[in-house]
Amino acid sequence: MKISSLSKEDALRQLVSSENGLSEAEAAKRLSENGLNEISAVARTPLFLKFLGQFTHFLAILLWIGAGLSFLSAYLHPGEGMSTLGGAIIGVILINAVFTFIQEFRAEKALEALKKLLPMYVQTIREGVEKEIPAREIVPGDIIMLAEGDMIPADARLIESSTLKVNNASLTGESEASLRDHMPAQDELLESPNIVFAGTAVTSGSGKALVFATGMGTEFGRIAHLTSAVEPSLSPLQKEIVKATRLVATIAALVGIFFFGLGLFIGRSFWENFIFAIGITVALIPEGMLPTVTLSLAMASQRMAKRKALIKSLSSAETLGCVTVVCTDKTGTLTQNRMTASKIWKDDQVIDARDHGLLAGDMLLQTALLCNNARFAENEYKGDPTEAALLKLGRESIGGISSQRIAEIPFDSERKRMTTLCKVADIGYVFTKGAMESILPLCSRSLVGGAQQQMDDMFRQKATEACHQLMDMGLRVLAFAYKEYKGQGDRDKGTGKEILHAADPQSLEADLVFAGLIGLEDPPRPEVPDAIRKCHAAGIKVIMITGDGSRTALAIAREIELVRGEAVVVEGTEFMKMDDGELRKKLAAKELIFARMTPKHKMRVVSILQEEGERVAVTGDGVNDAPALKKADIGISMGVAGTDVAKEAADMILLDDNFATIVSAVEEGRAVYENIRKFITYIFTSNIPEAVPYLAYILLKIPLPLTIMQILAVDLGTDMLPALALGTERPTPSVMKQPPRSRDKRLLDFSVISRAYLFLGPIEAVACMFGFFYVMYEGGWHWGTMLQPDNILYMQATTACLTAIVISQAGNVFACRSSGESVFGLGLLKNRMIFMGIGFELCLQLFIVYTPWGNSIFSSAPISLHIWLILLPFAFLLFFADELRKTLTRS
Ligand code: ATP
Repeated sequence: MKISSLSKEDALRQLVSSENGLSEAEAAKRLSENGLNEISAVARTPLFLKFLGQFTHFLAILLWIGAGLSFLSAYLHPGEGMSTLGGAIIGVILINAVFTFIQEFRAEKALEALKKLLPMYVQTIREGVEKEIPAREIVPGDIIMLAEGDMIPADARLIESSTLKVNNASLTGESEASLRDHMPAQDELLESPNIVFAGTAVTSGSGKALVFATGMGTEFGRIAHLTSAVEPSLSPLQKEIVKATRLVATIAALVGIFFFGLGLFIGRSFWENFIFAIGITVALIPEGMLPTVTLSLAMASQRMAKRKALIKSLSSAETLGCVTVVCTDKTGTLTQNRMTASKIWKDDQVIDARDHGLLAGDMLLQTALLCNNARFAENEYKGDPTEAALLKLGRESIGGISSQRIAEIPFDSERKRMTTLCKVADIGYVFTKGAMESILPLCSRSLVGGAQQQMDDMFRQKATEACHQLMDMGLRVLAFAYKEYKGQGDRDKGTGKEILHAADPQSLEADLVFAGLIGLEDPPRPEVPDAIRKCHAAGIKVIMITGDGSRTALAIAREIELVRGEAVVVEGTEFMKMDDGELRKKLAAKELIFARMTPKHKMRVVSILQEEGERVAVTGDGVNDAPALKKADIGISMGVAGTDVAKEAADMILLDDNFATIVSAVEEGRAVYENIRKFITYIFTSNIPEAVPYLAYILLKIPLPLTIMQILAVDLGTDMLPALALGTERPTPSVMKQPPRSRDKRLLDFSVISRAYLFLGPIEAVACMFGFFYVMYEGGWHWGTMLQPDNILYMQATTACLTAIVISQAGNVFACRSSGESVFGLGLLKNRMIFMGIGFELCLQLFIVYTPWGNSIFSSAPISLHIWLILLPFAFLLFFADELRKTLTRS
C-alpha cells in the first residue's frame, strides 16, 4: 500500500517508528544501511577530460599551429633551429596546461570547501526528545518538524499539520504554494496532499512528518540522476578576461606578422624572420591570465569566508565590489537581536521593566506570557528573541501560569500581530500582542488601575504619545490587549464543560481590552557605526528597511550614524500609496529609512533602484524575502536567523548576521578587482622589454639581445609566482575611499595599459638593453659585428639582458602592489607571498644562469657577480620612479 493512503498509525507501523521517533541506536543502524541523506554528485566532466580541454582551447590551438609550422619548416629546411622552436612551443602548451589545470582545480576545491561551511540542520524527534541534527543524517522512520522557511530534507508523510503550505516548484515547476494536510489520501504520490518532498520548501504554517525516503531514493534524487550537472558558468570578469586574452592573442599574431613583413623588407632570410614572428607571437600571448584570475577570485571568496561572508559563486565576489546601495534590515543585522524588556507603560506611567514589584498579577504580563511561543529550556530562553525577552520578563515578574492553548493566529510581518486563545483556570481568554497601529484599533476598552474602562480619544492619544516616547528611545514597542472569551456554548458530553472553539480571526480579535505597552531594547552592534562610516567613504548608500516603527528606526539610525542630518522616513502605508515616480524621488535622498515595511515591499525598492542604474545588495531572512533576494544584484541572507529558503535564494550568507560583514565582503570584492589589475599590470610590463630587443635587432642590425626561449622563461617561469602573490594582496585603505566602480569600467583600461606599456615597461626595456650592451662592450664587441648564437660573449650578453628583466620585475612586483598609493604606506613587508615569489624568481634565474641544464635549455651562460650588482639599481630605479609618479598623481 502507498504510504499516502495509510492512516497515521499504519504509516508509522510500516516504517517501524513511533510518534517519539527512532532511538539513536536504530537511527545509526538505518544510517549505515541506507547511507547519508545526500544527492550524490552527478558525474561531472572527468578530470582527465578537463585536462585534455587545456590542449584544445583557442590559445592552445594557436600555439599548436605555431608548433606545427615550426616542425614543417624544420622538415623542409633543416638546420635552422626550427625543431627546437617547435619543441619549445609544445613545452609552452604543456606547462600552460598543467599550470592552468592546477589553478582551476585549486579554485574548484576552494569553492567546494566553502559549501561545506554551511551544513543544513533539521529539527527531529528522537527518543521522544526534539533535537537538531544535520540533514544528511536523516533516515527513513525519522520524525521531522517543519516550520515556515524550512527546506524539506527528505520525502516524508505528514502526520500533523497546521495551515502548512509547500512550494513544490523545484519538483513540479508549479510555483504557487499548495496547502498540505495529514489525512490519508488516494492520489498518486506526487499529487498527494499528505506527502512533502525533499528539495521543496515550507512557505507557511508548520507540521510534523514521517520520513520514508532519503538521498537518492527521494523523488528529487531520481530527477537529479536524469539531468546532468550544470557546469558553473563564467563570471562577467572571467568572460572579460577570455575576451581580453583573445584580443591580446590576436594583436600578438598581428605583431608577429608585422615583424615578419618588416624583416623581409629589410632583407633578412625568410626562416630567420619566421622564427621571430612565431617567437614574438608566443611571447606576447598572455597564457596564464585566465587561470590566475579564476584563482584570485576563488582566494577572495575564501578570504570572505574567513571574514564570515559566504559567497555561492565567483561572480558574486566581483559583483560585491561594485555594489552602490545596501538595503539592510535593522533587527539582528544592525542590532544584536538580543532583546531585553526595558520600559513598560501602564496606568499612564512609564516604569522600568526591572521594577518587578510593580508588576505582580498584571494582565499585561499575563498577555506577554501567554501570547508567546518562546520556551525556557536547559537554562536558556529559546525562540524568537522578541518573545524570549517577554517570556523572561513575565517569568521573572509573575512566574509561570498554567494554561491550555486552544488556538493561535501566528505572527506575520504583514499583520504585525499575534493572537492566542487560551484557557486559564477554566476561563477562556484571547491574548493579542503586536505593533501599536495594529492593536489599538482592535480595542474598545482599556485597563486603568486594574479596572476596565471604555476607551476614549484621550486615552488613545495618551497611549500613542507614550508609544512615541518609548520609540524615540530606540525601543521596539509592542502593544498588548486581551479579553475574556465565552466560546460558542458547546459542552463536552462527558464532563459537561464548555468546549472552547476559535471563532474567525475577526471576531476573536475584536472588542479587546488594551493592557499596556512594553518597550524592548536591542542594542546596536558595536562594529556597525564604523562599517557605516566606511560605506559612506566608499560612496555606498545604506538604506534601512525595517518592520519596526519609524521612530524606533530613526532613533537607532542616529545611534549608529546611519542618519546624521534630516533623514527621509517613509512608512509602509505611505509607501503603498506612492507611484513609482514619487518613490524614485524619495530614493534619491541621501539618508533614507523605510519603516513598517513588509518583505513584499522590498522587491519594489530593489527594482526601482536597479532601474536607476544602482547595483543593489539587499538583506533578508524570511520566506517572503526570497523574491527580493533573487532580484537584487547581491541577495544576502542571515546564516543564524535566516530560513533555509532565504539562504537558498541568496548569493551570499552572513555567518554572523552582521552588517559589518557585508562591508568587509564589499572591501574584499573591491580588492580582488584591484588585485587582478595589479598582476595584469605586472605581467604586461615585461612584454615591453621582451619586444624591444626584437625591434632593436631589426632596426639597429645588432645580434638579437633576447632569445625566444628566454622570453618564455620570463612569461612562464619567473613572472608566475610574483603575479600570483599580487593576487593575494590585502585590501588597501584606499579601496574603501573611492566611489564604487562603474558597471562599464573595463579591466584593461587606459590607466593599466599606459602604466605597463608606456611607463614601467620602457624602464625595464632600458634596463635589459643596458645589460646586453654592457656585457657586449665589456667583452670587446664593436657595433656592427654579428656574433654566432653559440658565441660565449653573445650568450652572456643575452643572459644579462634576461637577468635585467628578472631584476627589474622584482622591483616591479613591489611597485604593482598599488596603483596610486605609496607602497611604504601599505607596509613594505606586509605581503609575505611577494617575498616567496621573488625568492622563486631568483632561484629559477640562478638555475638558468649557473647550471649546465639551464644553460643548454635557454642558451645562457654564467655571468659574473658584478653584472648582477650593476643591474640591481634598475629594480630600485623602477620602484622609486613609480613612487614618484604616484606622489605626483596623488597631489
Ligand atoms: P527588521 O526588518 O528590522 O529586521 P523585523 O523584520 O524583525 O524588523 P517584524 O518582525 O516584521 O520586523 O516586526 C514588525 C513589528 O511587528 C515589530 O515592530 C513589532 O511591533 C511587531 N512584532 C514583532 N515580533 C512580534 C511577535 N512575535 N509578536 C507580535 N508582534 C511582533
